[in-house]
This record gives sequence, structure tokens and C-alpha cells, in this order.
Amino acid sequence: MKQSAQLPVMEHFYTLQGEGKHSGRAAYFIRLAGCDVGCVWCDVKESWDISPDQYLTIKQLLTEVAQSNTDFVVITGGEPTMHNLKELTNALHTKGYEIAIETAGVHRLNGHIDWYCFSPKKFKAPIEEAYALANELKVVIAHPSDFEWAEQHAAKVQSSCVLYLQTEWEKQERFLPQIIDYIKRNKKWKISLQTHKYMQIP
Ligand code: SF4
Repeated sequence: MKQSAQLPVMEHFYTLQGEGKHSGRAAYFIRLAGCDVGCVWCDVKESWDISPDQYLTIKQLLTEVAQSNTDFVVITGGEPTMHNLKELTNALHTKGYEIAIETAGVHRLNGHIDWYCFSPKKFKAPIEEAYALANELKVVIAHPSDFEWAEQHAAKVQSSCVLYLQTEWEKQERFLPQIIDYIKRNKKWKISLQTHKYMQIP
């Protein structure tokens, strides 16, 4: 078993956050390996499996983050709540970084996060904790029935939680107009675009 001060990292890079509440903001991304959700339309399937050579120490990660100009770190996956994030998040907070997580909310969060982006998936049910922690609910629309499914989740989050609808990238021609129309009729929602894909940045 790996020491707790190591985490499996698929990739890490400095870029702009492309989607959701922090869209457009410079952010250092730490994409942890491992996912047990299994979305059929997943665009990072290579993150699902963990290999022994992917482990980095918290110290190594902090060194990489420090070499960027960032004040904001996004922990994503994969499914990052599969891992104990206490040491990483404590270390990042000690250095003054603001931290966001992107999660399907399927495991208890082990760590201290400033912004919890909850993106539920149909392929594995979220746990109740995710609704209480969510600062941002981001629902990917890949089927007409997903609008009703999004409302079911929106009914369970805190009133302060920001609500986003985002089209599945491959189906945007079909669903972008539907999302725009839906939001005009249901103004509590906002649209989230994967602007990093338009900009062709990671
Ligand atoms: Fe892919 Fe994320 Fe779904 Fe996991 S939760 S399968 S990483 S889209």
C-alpha cells in the first residue's frame, strides 16, 4: 500500500479553468487517476485505471504548483474523492492556495476544500453528503430526460448552490439550443460551456 503522502496523478498542468463558476480563471489542475463511476461518454477514460508509476508525493505536487503563477488549484479526476485528500489539501492551504474539487460526489470527501463542484452522474449514485457540500451543481445534458434529472438534484442542494447545465461536448449541436431555451424558461439555471475546448487548451 502507498504511503498516504502520495497520490496517483494522471496529469497536472497550469491552464485556465474552462467551465462552471470559476470559468476563465487561471488554475493549476491536478488530475488524479482512478474512477469507479464509468460514464459511457467520459472524455478522460484514460483516467479510470491507476498504475504504480503514477504516484507523486505531496511535496512533489507542491513544488510543481509553486512553479506556476497560480493562487487556485483544481483537484479533478477521475473521481478524486476515491482518495484521501487531507494531506494534499492541508499542504495547499498552508501555502495559501484556494482549492476547488470536481467530483461526482460518490464517496465521502476526505480533505478541506473551498469550492465543491458537484457533477452527478447516472452511472453511480451520489451520496447525500454531496448535496450538502455542493457550492456548484453542474449537470451534463446528454439526453432529453436529463433536464428532469437535473431538477431532481437541484431540489436537494442548498439554496446557495449555483446551478449549471452543460451539454455533452459531442452532442452540443443538439443540446446547446435546448439548454438555452430551457434556461430562458427556468432562470435559476445558468449555462456552463467547456470553453477550454473552444480555446484548445487542456
Ligand atoms: Fe469520466 Fe468523470 Fe464519469 Fe469518471 S466521473 S467516468 S472521469 S466523466
